[in-house]
Amino acid sequence: MEPRDNRQNWFRGQGLWADTPDADWQNWVWQYKNRLVTEEQFAARMRLTDAERAGFAQAGGRLSVAVTPYFFNLINRDDPECPIRRQVIPVGAESVASPGESADPVGEEGTMPVEGLVHRYPDRVLFLVTNQCAAYCRYCTRGRLVSNAREYNFQPRHEAALDYIAAHSEVRDVLLSGGDPLLLTDAKLDYLLGRLRAIPHVEFVRIGSRIPDFMPQRVTPALCEVLRRHGPVWMSIHVNHPRECTEELFQATERLSLAGVPLGNQSVLLRGVNDDAETLKSLGHRLLMMRVRPYYLYACDQITGSAHLRVPVKRGIELIRSLRGFTTGYAVPQFVIDAPGGGGKVPVNPEYVETLDGAEGVVLRNYKGELSVYRE
Ligand SMILES: *Cc1c(COP(=O)(O)O)cnc(C)c1O
Repeated sequence: MEPRDNRQNWFRGQGLWADTPDADWQNWVWQYKNRLVTEEQFAARMRLTDAERAGFAQAGGRLSVAVTPYFFNLINRDDPECPIRRQVIPVGAESVASPGESADPVGEEGTMPVEGLVHRYPDRVLFLVTNQCAAYCRYCTRGRLVSNAREYNFQPRHEAALDYIAAHSEVRDVLLSGGDPLLLTDAKLDYLLGRLRAIPHVEFVRIGSRIPDFMPQRVTPALCEVLRRHGPVWMSIHVNHPRECTEELFQATERLSLAGVPLGNQSVLLRGVNDDAETLKSLGHRLLMMRVRPYYLYACDQITGSAHLRVPVKRGIELIRSLRGFTTGYAVPQFVIDAPGGGGKVPVNPEYVETLDGAEGVVLRNYKGELSVYRE
């Protein structure tokens, strides 16, 4: 039997920054200002591989590098293949373009009625409120516009987007993303949420954020009070590996839950990070302990320079099959591919129906491979 995961082995503490006063460590502005951003800052704390040095050499023109001290502590610095490291430290392979890849892999540019507002589905919009993040995921689907590393001069236009939403009564669900919306000040979030919640046809707001994962210190009681006041506000966080489930993240998600924010998680299936069943299962279990429901598992978008991180779709389906039935249904995310060109998210599932229109009924195969018949 697997040992029970009871949080005693979850990472906590200040690690390499043990000498930093607690008041600084717990302060998100300190975490933000002390991010590691240059090759020298990383090299002073870990031995970079040749591939990583090559990655730093060209990251400046592609997607900035930034890692908070809090998140850096989760890296196993002795392991060049560390699953945390692979998510945030650049490698030379990022400059290799492969067939099928592009700078806007899910076709967002074609469905923006206002700069930064993606209206792809009939009843909901994606509102990009900033182009900055606390740290940069190397497989970012919006690498073209986040971090200001490229020509694209993204200017979020909050007022124009709010006007568009107010004028479109079919929009009942607004998803704030970016960049990371939780980098906005409490006052700015209070303003945006207040404006959105005052629009009669907007039923609720969602926030997509990796800040709880990269910088849980941002989830202050004051921020939680803003979210509570404008509820229902849902939040999708982004955790890819069970090691990211720390005591600090646990406490941040608890504060959010107690403020009435229902939490989901969106993971990206990444080679060498979470492409095995035990890792995904442990991640699902830890998320549920934090009151976070695994929502989507994304096949990695075909962003230019991501081939080294992508996993075959077939493998993703096998991984879902190895979870379904073998663990809590809540722990199993929906595997999706965000269709190239702007088609939206397409669910991709293992097949459990053997025959749908057989003479004796629907023939089903369960998680153990056993057949049964559902007579109609
Ligand atoms: C992902 C996404 C949404 C939200 O999709 P759900 O399946 O409702 O979570 C909305 N708009 C765009 C453009 C998206 O990419």
